[in-house]
Amino acid sequence: MAGVSEQQILDSLKEVIDPDSGKDIVSAGMIKGLQTKDGHVAFAIEVDQDKGAGLEPLRKEAEEAVHDLSGVISATVVLTADLPAQGPGQGPPPPSPGGPPPVDHGGAPGGPTAALMPGVASIVAVASGKGGVGKSTTAVNLALGLAAAGHKTGLLDADIYGPSLPRMMGITGQPSSSDGTTLDAMENYGIKVMSMGFLVEEDTPMIWRGPMVQSALEQMMRDVSWGELDVMVIDMPPGTGDAQLTIAQRVPLTGAIIVSTPQDIALMDARKGLNMFRKVGVPVLGLIENMSYFNCPKCGERSEIFSHGGARIEAERLGIDFLGEIPLDIIIRETSDGGRPIVVSEPESEHAKAYRAIADKVWEKIEHPLSDEATSGPKIVIQ
Ligand code: ADP
Repeated sequence: MAGVSEQQILDSLKEVIDPDSGKDIVSAGMIKGLQTKDGHVAFAIEVDQDKGAGLEPLRKEAEEAVHDLSGVISATVVLTADLPAQGPGQGPPPPSPGGPPPVDHGGAPGGPTAALMPGVASIVAVASGKGGVGKSTTAVNLALGLAAAGHKTGLLDADIYGPSLPRMMGITGQPSSSDGTTLDAMENYGIKVMSMGFLVEEDTPMIWRGPMVQSALEQMMRDVSWGELDVMVIDMPPGTGDAQLTIAQRVPLTGAIIVSTPQDIALMDARKGLNMFRKVGVPVLGLIENMSYFNCPKCGERSEIFSHGGARIEAERLGIDFLGEIPLDIIIRETSDGGRPIVVSEPESEHAKAYRAIADKVWEKIEHPLSDEATSGPKIVIQ
């Protein structure tokens, strides 16, 4: 039977030496939030904020030490830094000096896609300038729309500050491992899903830096058997800080989608997202306006509380495509927060159709990428 005790884990970690202090990482008090359940082990190694990126070998060594123990199916180890509280949406953590090095996008043979997720043909990030705009709701319904159109779809929750995909996808429990090496992705509504929410208790407070988010994310890509997928949708952490930039740089994204509400469509927030992806050469597939207008559940009347339509105009101005608008409607909140997203629970509803139409546009762009239009900014066409 799978299983390992905390003591066995700590004993194995005593063999791992912190290069800075010369002490083992247990005695140095660096192990935080150790959790173990049915052979799945997760913990963080607390490191100095400035040393995060350089300590990847230490993280790996700790992970391997635990992984080698008998009874361990998976080991998820992340680096964390004790930063002043700064949650999602409250602004980015301090940028790392110079930022992480750029990477090759586009999944060249043997490149990052092949190494991380060999069977995944394309990866689309869903991002927002700040929290609470409906990014996760959009990512979930978009993924379900892609699946409804017959594409094999995965959904990866990179929003490790507040992973909401387990709840929205109506999945509880923890992933297991059929081969004893990689985790099986969780699955519901025909979509494979992975989230830190399956591995770490919901109320575990963790403050992550860009490179640390990246190492957790890489594990969710590399150590999960995703199988063959046409498309993977990534629910990005909200905002445009260091963590998001690192993902945009390191994950071989086919493209990115920005979700925005009309009121921040004077759009400084959405624009920041756009600029971030452009800076690292990731094509922006388009903008989705969420909570675009209000559908009154009582009278059925539509009211445009936040000057609806701003996103379409702004998208045009910025030279990116407008992918569609989704109203503010209680039914969208109830279904997504209740684990029955509207695309599957009310597939014939107007909103589900809107999400599916957006999914079709996104698929079209995945299959027929335009030149580098969206990465290079608006083009001037002289007729
Ligand atoms: P984010 O990922 O941007 O933080 P969420 O997707 O978690 O945002 O959405 C925040 C809240 O708003 C959730 O309770 C969600 O159900 C609700 N919500 C999202 N989009 C809509 C919408 N179009 N209409 C009504 N409620 C929505």
